[in-house]
Amino acid sequence: MGTPLESRGAQAEEVVDRLHEEYPDSTISLNYSNRLELLVAVVLSAQCTDERVNEVTAELFEKYETPEDYAAASEEQLAEDIYGITFHNNKGGYLKGIGEKIVAEHGGEVPDTMSELTEFPGVGRKTANVVLQHGHDVVEGIVVDTHVQRLSRRLGLTEEERPEAIEQDLLEVVPETEWQQFTHLLIDHGRAVCGARTAECGECVLADICPSEKGDSEVDLASGEPW
Ligand code: SF4
Repeated sequence: MGTPLESRGAQAEEVVDRLHEEYPDSTISLNYSNRLELLVAVVLSAQCTDERVNEVTAELFEKYETPEDYAAASEEQLAEDIYGITFHNNKGGYLKGIGEKIVAEHGGEVPDTMSELTEFPGVGRKTANVVLQHGHDVVEGIVVDTHVQRLSRRLGLTEEERPEAIEQDLLEVVPETEWQQFTHLLIDHGRAVCGARTAECGECVLADICPSEKGDSEVDLASGEPW
């Protein structure tokens, strides 16, 4: 078992420093070329891999270029055009609703506030945070996806379980200048080394400060269960 630093703040800073060294080019892995495409890609990525989303949006973005295009399509057509994405029927409806709302209430532009974005169908705080950060350069919070949720708990940065509560804990300890990058660093580390079922602690640059490290910790703090 690694020994975490004395305070959660110091632990968070050390994690960020080491992961910056490890993943210097860490960034969002969804493909998009404007705010509307970003919003659509993030909505589609809920419980789906970014890789699959990128495959589907390569054609989708050629067919649907404006909010009006999504508003004018039927839900069935949209569902068919995003076939292969998890929950494509629901998400087809979300895309139509988003197109309609942007046209009717936002003058054809993707809005730039948390409250407006979270009124769109299929858009929660996590999705809105990604759109604000990468579409508008507005960093109001920390995006907590499944990797951030798991690694933050494993590394002793939070004991909370729900993403919203984890985010509040992280906002207190992660330096504000790192709020955006923190997510990408943890996602990269989760994919490369610290997987849900395949934590490779022997290969991990955080092993000596990680209280879940398998060497002699018997418990995975992400789940609270034995490894
Ligand atoms: S791979 Fe192991 S040591 Fe590294 S962060 Fe994950 S649980 Fe901790």
